[in-house]
Amino acid sequence: MGSCDLCGREAALQQAEIEGVELSVCSSCVRHGKQKAPAPQSFVPRKQHAAQEAPVERLVDNFSLLLRRAREKKQMTQDVFAAFLQERSSTVAKWELGDLQPDIAVARKLERKLGVSLVETEESVSAVPEKKRAAKDELTLGDFFKVKRK
Ligand SMILES: [Zn+2]
Repeated sequence: MGSCDLCGREAALQQAEIEGVELSVCSSCVRHGKQKAPAPQSFVPRKQHAAQEAPVERLVDNFSLLLRRAREKKQMTQDVFAAFLQERSSTVAKWELGDLQPDIAVARKLERKLGVSLVETEESVSAVPEKKRAAKDELTLGDFFKVKRK
């Protein structure tokens, strides 16, 4: 046991190479870099990190496809479908093409009308966009190094 060089948490430590520096880090921080030592004995569930983030609602990735399928199931033309959804047919056409995405509030309304799930929360998403995570992690790392240099 000792304190993690990155987050300061008391935990079982592992050697990892992070940005060219060899550090003793906990099992959550080890993913910032290349792990040196073999698998950790203590496993910290990933959701500890995820739990700190508020759930974010977003449109499902295949919204366009789901919308078109829902329409085809009802055997409606885009015009009829648009009227059914109380939207403009040009808007619905763009949704189906993926040129336009509705607001979450609108997507929620479509969900109710169609009985199809069109909105998901980040929590329930298995593949959280890597870009978002990377940006957050870099910030944490950067803040840490600033603190260390003092
Ligand atoms: Zn740590």
